[in-house]
Amino acid sequence: MSTVHGLDVNDKTQCKHYSSPKDVIAIKHPCCKKFYACIKCHEACEAHEARVWRRDERGAEGRLATEQAKC
Ligand SMILES: [Zn+2]
Ligand SMILES: [Zn+2]
Repeated sequence: MSTVHGLDVNDKTQCKHYSSPKDVIAIKHPCCKKFYACIKCHEACEAHEARVWRRDERGAEGRLATEQAKC
């Protein structure tokens, strides 16, 4: 089971930065192996610089739309 971190993340993995109906996916950050609702949430919760998936790395593994939690 995975947890989505972020600021004010709701049950659709929408955070305080992005809350449009389209933004219902979380992003897995390879730098810390955590799911964050968006990169700004990562910046707010982690001290290190975010590493994002390259285009060819991006896939089902890097996305999640199920569970959520606050950091
Ligand atoms: Zn990280
Ligand atoms: Zn966010």
